[in-house]
Amino acid sequence: MYSHHSHSGDYVAHGLDCLDDIVAEALILDFKTYCLTEHMPRITDELLYPEEFCFTNLDKKQSILTSDEALIRLQAQFKKFMHHAELVKSKYNNTNEYNTTFLIGSEIEGCDKIHIEYCKKLISENSNVIKFIIGSLHHVNNIPIDFDQENWVKAVKSSKNNIKQFLIDYYNQQYEMLVHLKPLIVGHFDLYKLLIPKDLKVNIKTGDIIDKNEQSNNENIVYLNEIDLTTTWKDVEQLIVRNLQFIHSYDGLIEINTSALRKDLKEPYPGKSICKLASEHCDNRFLLSDDAHAVSHVGVCYKKCLEFITKELALEGLYYLTEDRQTHDIRICYDKMNDIIKDPFWQRIGDK
Ligand SMILES: [Zn+2]
Ligand SMILES: [Zn+2]
Repeated sequence: MYSHHSHSGDYVAHGLDCLDDIVAEALILDFKTYCLTEHMPRITDELLYPEEFCFTNLDKKQSILTSDEALIRLQAQFKKFMHHAELVKSKYNNTNEYNTTFLIGSEIEGCDKIHIEYCKKLISENSNVIKFIIGSLHHVNNIPIDFDQENWVKAVKSSKNNIKQFLIDYYNQQYEMLVHLKPLIVGHFDLYKLLIPKDLKVNIKTGDIIDKNEQSNNENIVYLNEIDLTTTWKDVEQLIVRNLQFIHSYDGLIEINTSALRKDLKEPYPGKSICKLASEHCDNRFLLSDDAHAVSHVGVCYKKCLEFITKELALEGLYYLTEDRQTHDIRICYDKMNDIIKDPFWQRIGDK
């Protein structure tokens, strides 16, 4: 089995377990490939998360950081991550004792031009360590869409309080990131679905968010979480197709990320309707990720995801990354579903 995207509490504020424990779990579950892909540091203070201003030292004493200190700390953490991940690689890769190949990448921030440029610099300066990037967006108009519902609502408001415009902004920003960085893996393709408020209504014709207190018999007004955000608006669907075709043009890969299932969404990222478009426009170039932030997240919801992959998508196989033993370059490989389902991993994973 494989996972191409993970974090740890050592290097991201909301991670729960240390990197060594996450690595140990990947070894216990006998992953074939397990990728360590900490976030690249953000470099502007408006993109800091509230949790990043709080620092707990080894004596468990907490101190509050200024934004400059918090930004410097992100830089230091990323350096420590690279060093630590290299130690993991040299300890476990290419030994007879373990089957797991650890690879080092970084999940990048495609939120704006400044971060896209910074990413280029960071990756070229550290190309001996960071072997690939996961191209992700966590912000729309510089407002986080995966942190809490308050910010999600704020992000939609910044797109004229119109969900169609919000999706257009998201996919245009994703396209910018794709064009400038050509990430080998595209991360959680439809992350915007994570925090959709259950009671939020939308005018399906215009995309406008409807005020909760507004009474209306208008048949165009529906609950947002009951509509397909991929196919409802043709202009949005066209942008998704454009992005998928671009990913295909440079041989990128799209992760099927089980963290959405862990967070109780019905489908992984991306959902079925985007996967269907990817089958048509991106040749089903999928690989699997758990996006773990804790030991309990390693391989989490993989069984449910296997069902999604075999029954809903009927994929013939999955891609995965590995490393050339001589050159240490990343290689893209492919396993057929018939072989994947025979992996003893499925017994080891239990009900996780
Ligand atoms: Zn992410
Ligand atoms: Zn992540």
